[in-house]
Amino acid sequence: MFIYIKLSMTSIDGVKVRQIVEGKTKLFVPDVKGHPSKGKVFFNPAMRLNRDITVSLFSVKRVSEFLDAFSATGAKGIRVMNEAGIDVVFNDISPLAVKFIKRNLKLNGLDARVENKDANILMREERFSAIDIDPFGSVSRFMDSAAASVKNKGIICLTDTDTSALAGSYPTSAIRKYTAVVGRTSFMHELGIRALIGFAIREASKYDIELRPVFVHSTLHYYRVFLEARSGRKRASDAVRSLRWIVYDRKSEDRWYSQFPDPSFENFGPVWAGKLFDEDLVKKMKGVSDASKALIELAKKEAGFELPYIDYHILASKHKLPLLKMNKLIDVLTANGISVSRTHFCSHCFKANAQPSEIAPLLKSYN
Ligand code: SAH
Repeated sequence: MFIYIKLSMTSIDGVKVRQIVEGKTKLFVPDVKGHPSKGKVFFNPAMRLNRDITVSLFSVKRVSEFLDAFSATGAKGIRVMNEAGIDVVFNDISPLAVKFIKRNLKLNGLDARVENKDANILMREERFSAIDIDPFGSVSRFMDSAAASVKNKGIICLTDTDTSALAGSYPTSAIRKYTAVVGRTSFMHELGIRALIGFAIREASKYDIELRPVFVHSTLHYYRVFLEARSGRKRASDAVRSLRWIVYDRKSEDRWYSQFPDPSFENFGPVWAGKLFDEDLVKKMKGVSDASKALIELAKKEAGFELPYIDYHILASKHKLPLLKMNKLIDVLTANGISVSRTHFCSHCFKANAQPSEIAPLLKSYN
């Protein structure tokens, strides 16, 4: 007689799975060939940096509970629970996803509440101190409920994969979803992130809530934005009043913030015009992988800048400049009294507290 012992589970509710380890967390994920969206439950290994940064941020920014409103396999919430030690409530509209979440919690020896609701309904029923919105696509249909649900001093975390609308490729789509005027620029992803934050600020202001970014990144095909919420009518009014237009002079590449559009140039907005990072928070963040450590190091450098990044290739072609190595460019500009930094947005771009028309003459003579 043979005794058959099944050593490893290979399916959840008939879906073939494989076990992986991400960070310090074990996960069963659908065994999909091809693009992750083909799986019956969504899991994209390429989104690891999104989860790593979330763990790093909430290891510093303590909150009483974290709603993983679009959990899928539970990957992000389980990592936040396991690696940052925060209580998490899980939710997904898909009953199959709920089965994955429960299995994955068990796999890590954890126990948590798991809901199976439309995230908009859950966020109308209850309030949470951190809320993660990760719908695969635009966050625009969930922002209003997230603002209604977030507690004072809490954090709303947005993942938006609708970058082509926000970054200027589909202006009509950006008006429809984000009530933002965008167009093609040389700082497309910063325009996209600032337009997304501007939209979030307007949505939250209806509930007398001020939102302020504490960490952002533009990675691969998505934007990730962490916004701190503070209650108060005056705070909400001030936040809306602080929104600006980006005025863009396409000829010189100069760009600046203005309260009103300037008809002599192109105008995009309304956008968040302040800092994209909370410098104190970023200084405390450690990173849990090489990629997250590298991103946090760059964030520390660019945290103090407000103007959108300058694309050196475009600047050089418009002003007929030599292409220096990035370190040399930084040395030359620094020697001329300009504050300058690399940026995570793009490897041949930089941040500066000066306009391209001031920078170009300083670079002209170098070869
Ligand atoms: N956060 C996950 C990925 C989420 S993918 C990770 O880090 O891996 C998006 C998930 O949102 C899918 O599982 C989908 O079932 C779920 N979803 C889509 N619309 C929803 C809604 N209205 N309410 C709740 N969940 C929803």
